[in-house]
Amino acid sequence: MTTLTFDSLNPATGEVVGRHPKHTAADVDKVVGRAEEAARWWAALSPAERRRRLLDYKAVLTRHMRELARLVHDETGKPVADATLEIVLTVTHLDWAARNAQKVLGRRRVNTGLVGLNLVGTLEYLPLGVVAVIGPWNYPVFTPMGSIAYALAAGNAVVFKPSELTPGVGVRLAELFAESVPEHPVFQCLTGLGETGAALVADPRVAKVAFTGSTATARRVMAACAENLTPVVAECGGKDAFIVDADADIAAAADACLWGALSNAGQTCVGVERVYVVDAVHDAFVRELSARAARVRAGEHYGPITMPGQVEVIRRHIDDAVATGKVVTGGPGAVRAPYVDPVIVEDVPEDSPAVREETFGPTITVRRTRDVQEALDLANASAYGLGGTIFSRNTRRAADLARRMRSGMTAINSIISFAAVPSLPFGGVGDSGFGRIHGGDGLREFARPKAVSRQR
Ligand code: NAP
Repeated sequence: MTTLTFDSLNPATGEVVGRHPKHTAADVDKVVGRAEEAARWWAALSPAERRRRLLDYKAVLTRHMRELARLVHDETGKPVADATLEIVLTVTHLDWAARNAQKVLGRRRVNTGLVGLNLVGTLEYLPLGVVAVIGPWNYPVFTPMGSIAYALAAGNAVVFKPSELTPGVGVRLAELFAESVPEHPVFQCLTGLGETGAALVADPRVAKVAFTGSTATARRVMAACAENLTPVVAECGGKDAFIVDADADIAAAADACLWGALSNAGQTCVGVERVYVVDAVHDAFVRELSARAARVRAGEHYGPITMPGQVEVIRRHIDDAVATGKVVTGGPGAVRAPYVDPVIVEDVPEDSPAVREETFGPTITVRRTRDVQEALDLANASAYGLGGTIFSRNTRRAADLARRMRSGMTAINSIISFAAVPSLPFGGVGDSGFGRIHGGDGLREFARPKAVSRQR
């Protein structure tokens, strides 16, 4: 294995958090070979035994919650409380995946529906083999574990390549798994920069790639996977819209909007970035929103921007929005790298980068619309389609808007709540990617259907 290393840094202080191997293509080759053997052993265990081991892993993660949260805090800069919540949600998903795998994937008889033929049909979902998981840095436990937990529960071995910004917590997740499954390396972690991930996804023994990251990197990953026809689930960026209907609870909507925009310093794939408010309540909503935003400060209420290069993207979008729109809160002075205070700008043209591109920072644009139909049309005009939110007291209209919103998930009168629910699938459309993690769809994403018909 390589002796080359790289350091992970605390983005707030610049201090070295940890030193990790820069795994080479030769290391990837060895690790995938070991994973193939481990996959055969893990797949041959009974579903009940796999479930027992995964629930044990859940208990191990729960015992190490403080340590893991501290590591997430050190590597991303996010407050320890936010990091803890991320791990609480992770173990909730792990529990669901472990308990439901057999129910979702196990063998069942199907009605063949063939008249006059005495055929019996059975369907089951079998493990794929080795699943490669490529993770981002923004939720370095919750996001990759949304694939890892479901892939393991479906009977696969996992090789995980965390972001170069958050390698330490990835290594620890795999080390702790070995406490519950010491016999074989069913869950391994490879650290390194983009080249390590590139070598992993190009390995023909990898049966599926679960990628979470930017749309640009997803394109490169898919091009590499095309060589071996390796299937991919791609969880990419977003530009989520937040719609406020004329009869919405304005105070609740303002609370939710601000949390959705500022949580994790806006570094959330399903963070609120575009707000569309129906004319009748626009002024009242903006008043409520700006009053709340005025009380929030980066460094006190949320952490720094984790990736140094991202500050420049945020600055460019703020400058663009300020030049073309009307400032409600903040402005160019909000950027105090690595911190960025809240920025709200109204009436930014819909074709400007601040409205079109993912900002991944604590900034939002707000636009007045004639009615909810115009709000929905503007929300749906994005190339992205990950999540979205609707605030309305009219239950029927909200449900109809949610169905017609071009997104994988929509929250009504709450914010980002779909991600917390293990039984709901998570994923997007358009530039936000394809395939689903979480829930029964997430389990089936990491399994292959096996159909058998038998003549009686
Ligand atoms: P990124 O720059 O695209 O990197 C994602 C991962 O891909 C990292 O582990 C990266 O490794 C790796 N990578 C880079 N080049 C690769 C290659 N050629 N082959 C294989 N792997 C490669 O994204 P990020 O900055 O970490 O994360 C932020 C993005 O993720 C945002 O767009 C956000 O919206 C999205 N995201 C989406 C979801 C979702 O569920 N839809 C959840 C969270 C985040 P290195 O770090 O070593 O370069």
